[in-house]
Amino acid sequence: MSIVVQKFGGTSVADAEKIARAARRAIKAKLDGHQVVMVVSAMGKTTDHLVALAREVNPSPPKREMDMLLTTGEQVSISLMAMAISAAGHEAISFTGGQVGMITDASHTKARIRSIDAARIHHELEAGHVVIVAGFQGVTEQGAITTLGRGGSDTTAVALAAALKAGMCEVYTDVDGVYTTDPRIVPEARKMNFISYDEMLELASLGAGVMHSRSIEFGKKYNVPIHVRSSLTDTDGTMIVAETPDMEQIVVRGVTLKRDLARVLLMGVPNKPGVAGDIFARVAEHNIVVDDIIQNIYERGGLANIGFTTTLGDLDEAKGICEKLAREIGIRSVEVDSNVAKVSIVGIGMKAHTGVASRMFKALADGQVNIQNISTSEIVISCIVDQNDGEKALRLLHNAFELDRG
Ligand code: ADP
Ligand code: ASP
Ligand code: MG
Repeated sequence: MSIVVQKFGGTSVADAEKIARAARRAIKAKLDGHQVVMVVSAMGKTTDHLVALAREVNPSPPKREMDMLLTTGEQVSISLMAMAISAAGHEAISFTGGQVGMITDASHTKARIRSIDAARIHHELEAGHVVIVAGFQGVTEQGAITTLGRGGSDTTAVALAAALKAGMCEVYTDVDGVYTTDPRIVPEARKMNFISYDEMLELASLGAGVMHSRSIEFGKKYNVPIHVRSSLTDTDGTMIVAETPDMEQIVVRGVTLKRDLARVLLMGVPNKPGVAGDIFARVAEHNIVVDDIIQNIYERGGLANIGFTTTLGDLDEAKGICEKLAREIGIRSVEVDSNVAKVSIVGIGMKAHTGVASRMFKALADGQVNIQNISTSEIVISCIVDQNDGEKALRLLHNAFELDRG
């Protein structure tokens, strides 16, 4: 009997009727002969409302307490889901992350899963229960409640599918699959039938909010097939799978916009060996993820300006760290710019095709979008642009690579 993990996002459990619909889906899978594990998010915009409430009480709330607060959202939906399944005459049992041994590290608000105790879930599945697990949450070895970062229920689901050796992880959401870009911004975007883990990982890390990027790392590592699909229809969605040779024929698979970015600029940094190492070691100690780095040298090599981008959520902390460091090692000033965004094109076909970068830069130039910085990897080219140009840049690139054409 194969195990299937079904994950339902916030909009897919937003009210009683939608919870009942999700419950029916799980019951159908069970009647089809599967053992079923459901992972559910908080109802509708619950998490957003809790975040706003916290900020009303304290503009920069302690992260531990933030996790304590936000995990309540998922606890509401797991219990209601178990009740809905019970109302339909089937047996179900709900668990928090801690109860199923979802052990994470201690980085509150962006914890990483360390291990999962699959035995408890297997036991309940063997007893014929639908098992419902709260998404997005875990617990440290010491018992502190953690969350995996916004959108983290996807990661709960794929990690569970890997730990339970499930045959499939189905991700039910409010779009019917993964599109060439966010269809809310570019209505001409097209749904893809398949995408490779590597491409999806890049799209997710670079702003495609449809999947939490850590979930794709788990999917790739443990080879979990992931089916992203609509919770409202029965049509096939997008399969996220291992790369096949024919996938390289498509040069650019998708384009993304990352908006929640900010730049920290350290001006007048002594240009000596080890200084950049010191700066980024200090930033890393605080678990702040650094995106692009730019350095330029002036005053005949004596001084440098070093800039890096990070997420908006980490900006205040990153700025504080850099200001402290500035006093310690004599950096002239620290400036921040929260008006930046990043547009990226992604495709494994770039490995085998030339002229992709120039086509990207030309499209942006023709549309009067100024490029502030460029970074590349084997399957990605990204440009930092003014935040006000972000959506326009996304549309220009979607058009330039003819992603609306199929
Ligand atoms: P859930 O609550 O189900 O987890 P999310 O809001 O996290 O749903 O993700 C679904 C949303 O992701 C869609 O409504 C869509 O606007 C957005 N999105 C961004 N990029 C893409 C993309 N490339 N393909 C599909 N949806 C995308
Ligand atoms: N409820 C959490 C959030 O809104 C987790 C999730 O939905 O995946 O970010
Ligand atoms: Mg999501």
